[in-house]
Amino acid sequence: MNSTATHSYKDTTIFNLIEQEYKRQLHGIELIASENFVSEQVMRAMGSVLTNKYAEGLPKKRYYGGCEVVDEIEQIAIDRVKELFGAVWANVQPHSGAQANAAVMLAVLKPGDKILGFDLSHGGHLTHGSPVNFSGKLYQPSFYGVEPETGLINWDKVEEIAMREKPKLIICGASAYSRDWDYARLRAIADQVGALLMADISHPSGLIAKKLLNDPLEYCHIITTTTHKTLRGPRGGLIMMRKDFENPFGLKNPKGELRMMSELLDSAVFPGTQGGPLEHVIAAKAVAFGEALEPSFAEYAQQVRKNAQTMAQEFIRRGYKVISGGTDNHLMLIDLRSKNLTGKLAQETLIKADITINKNAVPFDDKSPFVTSGMRLGTPAITTRGLKENDMLQIVEWIDEALQNHDNDTKLNQIREKINLQMQKYPLFAY
Ligand SMILES: *Cc1c(COP(=O)(O)O)cnc(C)c1O
Repeated sequence: MNSTATHSYKDTTIFNLIEQEYKRQLHGIELIASENFVSEQVMRAMGSVLTNKYAEGLPKKRYYGGCEVVDEIEQIAIDRVKELFGAVWANVQPHSGAQANAAVMLAVLKPGDKILGFDLSHGGHLTHGSPVNFSGKLYQPSFYGVEPETGLINWDKVEEIAMREKPKLIICGASAYSRDWDYARLRAIADQVGALLMADISHPSGLIAKKLLNDPLEYCHIITTTTHKTLRGPRGGLIMMRKDFENPFGLKNPKGELRMMSELLDSAVFPGTQGGPLEHVIAAKAVAFGEALEPSFAEYAQQVRKNAQTMAQEFIRRGYKVISGGTDNHLMLIDLRSKNLTGKLAQETLIKADITINKNAVPFDDKSPFVTSGMRLGTPAITTRGLKENDMLQIVEWIDEALQNHDNDTKLNQIREKINLQMQKYPLFAY
């Protein structure tokens, strides 16, 4: 077999770098709100022989032979995620959150159609109409945002904009909004203007699965999410619906019946926007959904939120401006202008202490996206490591101390050493 020859090459370069990255993750405090640590079994499913398999199509409807096993795996992933969110239909093939959103828009819009999304500079996502993204290039976007005084979305204003713009699709969901969403109100607005309503729950999906936040599936026509944020699965995306329905565009099947929205969405994923599904990642999604169905995941999700709320309160106590005054979910956005700091300086300072956050624009930011006035922090990853409320108080103290000493490398080194010592107590699976 010539595979012996092709596989005899040993790549020490890349595996040394992976080891280096493992140590970085192990020793530091990970506060990037969109990151998490997967379990050993999720990791093993991802690094499996399933990566060798082509399986274009859906379970039992494939374009390739030898799909019996991956059919079973993908069907289990679908069944588990339906149970987890109370959905009647799901497609688990999107390679990422952005791919899930692309498929939905391909299914429900024509180029040039109007969409309405949450402003990127107020915490929205690129795929909700940004001019640098396909969603802003192929479709005509308009945006709603938060109020300058409260940091909250004003639903009356969303209605006003929707009435004026008459979008075909209204998108809710965000990457940096710490409060819950009024899906019932949004659905009423969508019905009033004849729009479909899509919720992109990429960030809080793990908390939504455990009913800690309002249920978007009850009111939104279509739901997309990533699987790697609070849901703690492999990097990927998915699309779901609580109710399937006849497409409102008059598209018919060969029998002359209106095609169901699920068919449109399935074909928008493949062949619309993707080729072969990543069955190794789908297997890892199935494992993660299985984990999320366990009672221990409810404890995890509750702890994520408790940790975020404790952290936000402690920042406020120390004189930081938390946008909207707190959090309902796993993250918070902090305006650093009252501390005379920029997001860029905060990110660069904290990394010297092995604390990873991301700089983030705050609503009505006067600085460029490369500098920004804010930082976004989230608790999904450190909660997976096992940290609790008391640890949050300690972390905020370290962050505050580091930021006050941003020009003192000796001090930052001392903080880093304390953090490295502390984090060694919380094991991280290495593979
Ligand atoms: C993270 C995120 C995405 C994109 O997910 P990727 O997997 O990075 O493509 C989409 N929408 C929202 C709201 C997100 O937060």
